[in-house]
Amino acid sequence: MADELAGRKLDALVVTAPPNIRYLCGFTGSHGLLVVPAAGEPVLYTDPRYEIQAGEEARCTVKVTKKSLIEAAARDMSRRRSWRRIGFEAGSMRYADYAALRHALPSARSLEPQTDLVEKLRLVKSPAEVETIRRSMAIAAEAYRRVVGSLRPPVRETEVAAELDHQMRQLGAEKPAFETIVLFGERAALPHGKPGPRALSMGDLVLVDLGAVLDGYTSDMTRMAVAGKPTERLRRLYQLVLEAQRAALEQLRPGVAASAVDRAARRSLERHGLADCFVHSTGHGVGLEIHEAPRLGKREKVRLKAGMVVTIEPGIYVEGWGGLRVEDTVVVTSNGYDILTPLGKELTVL
Ligand code: ZN
Ligand code: ZN
Repeated sequence: MADELAGRKLDALVVTAPPNIRYLCGFTGSHGLLVVPAAGEPVLYTDPRYEIQAGEEARCTVKVTKKSLIEAAARDMSRRRSWRRIGFEAGSMRYADYAALRHALPSARSLEPQTDLVEKLRLVKSPAEVETIRRSMAIAAEAYRRVVGSLRPPVRETEVAAELDHQMRQLGAEKPAFETIVLFGERAALPHGKPGPRALSMGDLVLVDLGAVLDGYTSDMTRMAVAGKPTERLRRLYQLVLEAQRAALEQLRPGVAASAVDRAARRSLERHGLADCFVHSTGHGVGLEIHEAPRLGKREKVRLKAGMVVTIEPGIYVEGWGGLRVEDTVVVTSNGYDILTPLGKELTVL
C-alpha cells in the first residue's frame, strides 16, 4: 500500500468503499471510513454501534465518533501539516462528504480523486483468499446438489431460490453472494432475470445461477437442468455452450490478455452462428465483491496473473425459447488454471 501511495505521490488515502476497508484493515461493519497515511498506521473511524466489533476486527487504530465520520477524519487530517496531497476514492465517496472534506481542510491541501488503487491490490488473491473462495464455492455447489436433483413440476422459481438460499446458510454461508437466479423455460433467456411465480412444467429448461459468501468472500456458478427428456436442439446447443466454455478455459494462464479469453468463447460460438446470442462478457473477477476486476470482456487489456480468480460463463439467449449458460469460478495458476466449482457440467435431466 505504501508503494501505491508513493507511486501516486499521495500523503494519504481516504478509503470509503466497504470491501476496500475490509481488505485493508479487517473491519466488516457497514459504517466506517479508513485513512491510510503513506507512512504510519491507518486510522479507522466508526460510530458507537460498531465500537466492540471494530475493536475485535480492525488491525489498526480505531476512533469512535458520534459525529459524521468525514468530519472527524477531516479534523485529524487538517492537523497533519505535512500532508499536501490527499487521495480519495472517486467511485465511492459521496459528494456531500467530499464537500465537507474540502470545506474542513485548508485550501492549500489538494484532494485527488483515485480509481482502482485498492482494487489493484485485490486483483491477485493470496493462497488463503483462494482457499476461502474455494470453500465458499463448495457450499454453493453442495446446495445445488441437495436441491436441484429433486425438483418436480409444479414447483415455482421463487421456492427453488428460497430453498437454495436456505441450504447455503445451513452449510455455513453468511448469505447468498447475490440474489439467487432460478429461471424456467423461456424465462431463461433473461441473463440476469429474477425468480418469479412461474411454475415448472414438463419440457422446461431450468437455469440456476448462485453463489455463497463465506468470511466475506463470494463465489459464482451456473448450471442447467431440464424437466423431462431434452430435445435434440437443446442437447446440441448445450454442447456448443460447453465447447465455448472449454475454449475460454484453455486460454487461462499468466500473461494472457483478458480480451483473449473473451475472444476464444466468442469465436467458438461464432463458428456455429451463435455470436449474436452471447450478449454479455465471458467472465468477471470474484473476491470480496461478486463482480470485481478483472472483467473478461472484448476490450479488456489486463494481463492475467497467477492468483486472479475469475468466472468463465459463456451463454446463449434466445427470446421466446430460453437461455443456456455454464459458469465456473476458476483461479489462474502459474501454468494454467484450477476450477474451484466442484460439480460436473452434464445437463441434469429431472
Ligand atoms: Zn453467476
Ligand atoms: Zn458471474
